[in-house]
Amino acid sequence: MSADAFSVPDRIVVVGAGIAGVSAVRELRSRGHSGKIILVDSGEHPYDRPPLSKAFLLGESDLDAIRLVPEAWFDDNDVDLRARRSAVRLRPSEGTVELDDGTAPAADAVLLTTGGAARPLPVPGGDLPGVHVLRSVEDARDLRAALVPGARAVVVGGGLIGAEVAASALALGCEVTLIEPTRPPLAMAVGEEIAVLLHEQHTAAGIRVLADTVAAVTRDGGAARLSVTTASGEALPADVVVVGVGLTVPGGLAEEAGLETSDGILVDEHHRTSNPAVFAAGDTARVRLADGSLRRREHWQAAQQGGRTAAAALLGQPLPAADPDWFWSDRHGVHVEAVGDMRGPHRVLRGSADSLPLTVLNLAEDGRLLGAAAVDDTRAIAAARRLIQSGTAPDAALLADTSVEPRKWLRR
Ligand SMILES: Cc1cc2nc3c(=O)[nH]c(=O)nc-3n(C[C@H](O)[C@H](O)[C@H](O)COP(=O)(O)OP(=O)(O)OC[C@H]3O[C@@H](n4cnc5c(N)ncnc54)[C@H](O)[C@@H]3O)c2cc1C
Repeated sequence: MSADAFSVPDRIVVVGAGIAGVSAVRELRSRGHSGKIILVDSGEHPYDRPPLSKAFLLGESDLDAIRLVPEAWFDDNDVDLRARRSAVRLRPSEGTVELDDGTAPAADAVLLTTGGAARPLPVPGGDLPGVHVLRSVEDARDLRAALVPGARAVVVGGGLIGAEVAASALALGCEVTLIEPTRPPLAMAVGEEIAVLLHEQHTAAGIRVLADTVAAVTRDGGAARLSVTTASGEALPADVVVVGVGLTVPGGLAEEAGLETSDGILVDEHHRTSNPAVFAAGDTARVRLADGSLRRREHWQAAQQGGRTAAAALLGQPLPAADPDWFWSDRHGVHVEAVGDMRGPHRVLRGSADSLPLTVLNLAEDGRLLGAAAVDDTRAIAAARRLIQSGTAPDAALLADTSVEPRKWLRR
């Protein structure tokens, strides 16, 4: 591992076994890499994060059920999984990665897929006991134990994770208040129409929604009870507070190794960092685009794609085709998906908010499909994804006609 002599690496150390790291390792093997692969992760075993705010939080699945790959996969594919181990230092000049057990495996190249941390609540009392974040399985276990029937839960942040936690807390029998200043949140991601529908679902389901921010969290005397004070001065008693206000990427390993960082590890479109033998992907990476802007996409498919792309680049092979952005969310019994870019004024609605499913399609000036978001219509999103990829301009009347199967959008 050195900055000046890079060739196809034999020994690769991947730090972080979330979806980005595991996808990278799978891609390395499927592309024929036969060298040594070490996958290091501080957790018990590699698991998937999206269920943590959904089935896992609801007690419908356990850690075993959310494995990213079967336990035997690592042996079967000759991947040396070092679980419950942390990388504590990269030593680029020595070509090693130091682990917390004192070992320092040799690495011709390193891939950092270390994810991020939940952003803490930046107000007085934001770190009191009883104030939870949700990023890891340990967080989810703690939160699950606190979300008992009748508990007063205040959820701060109505984005993807906050909204899902609020819905799960309600389903678990809690009395839920959701604090979110933006009305509606997620409009950039799913478009205004669906964002409004989703946000209004909270109130319809029985959640109290406050368009406000949090000024402070205090503990009431010696009792195990919290009080959340909003910026407008309301004091909300709470047994549990859950903070879903975004992601932060600790500098740690990358900064110490002298890699270029700026709220994430900066990488080029091959996921190469400022050290050509060190790559980064997933939530931890910010990709420098051709126009010089920096972009981090904090969702599952982007992390999977980033891991695969980094693996291809590590081997000096052609990169996988870039799929349009895609993410999903589940709350209050509905399934939401969005693909592509939902920013823009040219909308076609298929269905209505009063009778789901509803799909909103976002067209470019020249009629090409740029993006689509849907509530309870995965087929519409699958067809939209193919239309976006093909770059063809669909017939808008066909898109809006609910009697036409989405797959027929593709036949013209
Ligand atoms: C509760 C929750 C719900 C979500 N729901 C959705 C959803 O519905 N749809 C969607 O598209 N996205 C969702 N996401 C986002 C998605 O899960 C993330 O974008 C994705 O997990 C990022 O993958 P990653 O591999 O980059 O990072 P991570 O999954 O965070 O994995 C990073 C791994 O690196 C390990 N690690 C970090 N530092 C070290 C070190 N020094 N040594 C060893 N190991 C280390 C960590 O333990 C962790 O296992 C959700 C996220 C959360 C937290």
